[in-house]
Amino acid sequence: MKITAVEPFLLHVPVTGGSIADSTHVVTHWGMPGCRILTDTDLVGYGYTGTHASLALDKLLTSCITEVYGPLLLGEDPREIQALHQKLLHDPPTHWVGRAGITQMALSAVDLALWDIKAKAAAEPLWCLLGGSPEKNVEAYNTDCGWLDRAQGKLVDDCRRMVEEEGFAAVKMKVGKSDPNEDLARVEAVRKGIGPKPRLMVDANAKWDMATALEFGPRLAEFDVTWLEEPLWHDDVTGHAQLAKEIEIPLALGESLYNLDQFREFVLAEAVHCLQPDASRCGGITGLWEIADLGRTYDLPVSPHHGDMMQAQIHAVIAHSACVQLEFIPWTLHCFEEPVSIQDGFYQLPESPGASTTLTCEALEKYSVLS
Ligand code: MG
Repeated sequence: MKITAVEPFLLHVPVTGGSIADSTHVVTHWGMPGCRILTDTDLVGYGYTGTHASLALDKLLTSCITEVYGPLLLGEDPREIQALHQKLLHDPPTHWVGRAGITQMALSAVDLALWDIKAKAAAEPLWCLLGGSPEKNVEAYNTDCGWLDRAQGKLVDDCRRMVEEEGFAAVKMKVGKSDPNEDLARVEAVRKGIGPKPRLMVDANAKWDMATALEFGPRLAEFDVTWLEEPLWHDDVTGHAQLAKEIEIPLALGESLYNLDQFREFVLAEAVHCLQPDASRCGGITGLWEIADLGRTYDLPVSPHHGDMMQAQIHAVIAHSACVQLEFIPWTLHCFEEPVSIQDGFYQLPESPGASTTLTCEALEKYSVLS
């Protein structure tokens, strides 16, 4: 099988309620810059990364996919993923200008498309190709009920509804208000609203400084918070290591890291308790797998970020023994031929061959912003 074309796409899909905010971002659309990889067979692979829908930045991603990686892929066998991954990393040479950021996110999109083709060629869902078992139940935790810009009453109602009506056993809420005392009041209200049993995670999106984290982090324990996510700046290994020693609540991070080397630094510094790689950022399924192996090696749970809108990652989470759960944000379910689905807080097993990344023709047309 040979690759015959790499065609870009760029979608901007509206988010729930028109707009959401955490401590550092306001998002109205989820960006999906990616590509269709065509072959000399009927098989087509779909891969993409996830962004906050900045058109200029997203065009850099599609440009990197098609102009840098595209020519290197033509004529290659798309099933030779490990070799192609190394080729794209070293031949342009990408590592000279990247290893993170645009080039790594573009590589992630290509990697997802290649795994999609490989699984389609095997006529199996990707989790099966990766060695997973249909017996593994993957829990979903809901983040779409916990945004920072929601008034406290709505925040509590949304979280309670996810638990009581939708069957989620875990929800995540954002913190990072200008007054952290307000954050504590909101966490207390959500805990009261959902009751003592559901797990509650808290995410600062790298907003806090060390003083704030040291003062307010320990107080989250009053509300039985499962983890504190990205309390400090994304790359602050020593800061997170210090914090991990000072407070009892486990630290979770990784959605803003790009590769195994970055994760290894945090792990070796004992600066993280739960790894949150994002396949659409950290090198696709290939990169995610390496990071999950790291988690296995150091006995750390792996709970991927939602960045690919869960579609390909659910397959890796089913298949890799270190992966324990997967975040859930349902913004793009209507865009896929086989969207992920949840039953009583657990992901249903994908059944179609491939990585579940195939987009519908309607979505490709309706949400395209490529001129
Ligand atoms: Mg987060």
